[in-house]
Amino acid sequence: MKILIAEDDSVSRRILEAHLAKWGYKVVAVSNGAEAWDVLRRLDAPRIAVLDWVMPKIDGPELCRRIRAATDRPFTYIIILTAKERTSDIVVALDAGADDYLTKPYHAEELHSRIGAAARIVHLHEKLEEANAKLFMMARTDGLTRIYNRAAIVERLEQEIARSQREDTPLAALMLDVDHFKRVNDRYGHLIGDKVLVEIAQRLCAECRPYDSTGRFGGEEFLVVLPGPRFEDMSSLADRIRQRVKETPIAADGQRLEVTVSTGAVWVDAGEKLGVHEVIKAADDLLYKAKENGRDRVEAARWTGT
Ligand code: GH3
Ligand code: MG
Ligand code: MG
Ligand code: MG
Repeated sequence: MKILIAEDDSVSRRILEAHLAKWGYKVVAVSNGAEAWDVLRRLDAPRIAVLDWVMPKIDGPELCRRIRAATDRPFTYIIILTAKERTSDIVVALDAGADDYLTKPYHAEELHSRIGAAARIVHLHEKLEEANAKLFMMARTDGLTRIYNRAAIVERLEQEIARSQREDTPLAALMLDVDHFKRVNDRYGHLIGDKVLVEIAQRLCAECRPYDSTGRFGGEEFLVVLPGPRFEDMSSLADRIRQRVKETPIAADGQRLEVTVSTGAVWVDAGEKLGVHEVIKAADDLLYKAKENGRDRVEAARWTGT
């Protein structure tokens, strides 16, 4: 584990550095508060900081306040190490956001134990952050196909609409629906139906560009969000997907299933002001048209208003 030392007195800093190194910690040592703040904003910042109180540029308590105010960065365990020993000083430091307080001169073995306590807390935080990230991913992923679920793909659409309005660029959305999927289920069973959905999701992703987003909108319906395409790019992508699904039958449990998809593709020009519901409704209306016009086809149109 890496530890930051911020201490302006070079002798104290070296002694502290030597202790921590002896106990097996990696040390980043700086001589003032501003440098400490720079180190703490790095992506791989130390998660434990031992801060002096009185030092140039930014003092210990002020640094604590900054660290606690920066809610976008991971938790840092802060130990204030200072010659100030009045109760009122301890109160100021802890209120500023310090987790622990140790006075100089300190006993090395006490510092060692306090750093050990810090490491335990940091380790717990890391486990919590990991679990949160996993939960966040799970909450956005469709359990069957492993692509975005409905809430996540609608959120992506919302973000891309906002971006297209900010950057004045076009945007497109594809709504796909598997043709006569009920027949697949009826004939081969639900589990094989599931495998077909997984395979279609994979083919969809394989055709899309890295910055496109693909989600399962509902049962056998998929929504694809395309930032910044030309109308022709959108149409040709939709048709490539259609062909890719149709051309190679899907292998499931020794069967080879011929499946097709219908797609509604709406292209929204730069400068249009509209929301997610209008975009989804437009793609849905086009999808309905594709079904009406015989399925296994793409209906593409430019957004022209409601
Ligand atoms: P159309 O060409 O008009 O879209 O016909 P369709 O049969 O695909 O349409 P319909 O909406 O009647 O049927 C959709 C079917 O999709 C019915 C439902 O049981 C099935 N389905 C929805 N979610 C899942 C799923 O997660 N797994 C499986 N296997 N089937 C699903
Ligand atoms: Mg000092
Ligand atoms: Mg459907
Ligand atoms: Mg269908």
